[in-house]
Amino acid sequence: MPINDPVKAQIVRKRLLEKKICRNCGATNSVEASKCRRCHSKNLRLKRKELASKKSA
Ligand SMILES: [Zn+2]
Repeated sequence: MPINDPVKAQIVRKRLLEKKICRNCGATNSVEASKCRRCHSKNLRLKRKELASKKSA
């Protein structure tokens, strides 16, 4: 189903870019998730495009 509403398209695009990766099992979770859907660990990190370069925290 095509998305004609530019506002909705932007939200979808943002959701595709912003994900949470479980540090425990590596599963991809939605950005709203507070814990991993696979292993229920709360050890999640945000995955975003601009974090592609490694930075020592
Ligand atoms: Zn997990």
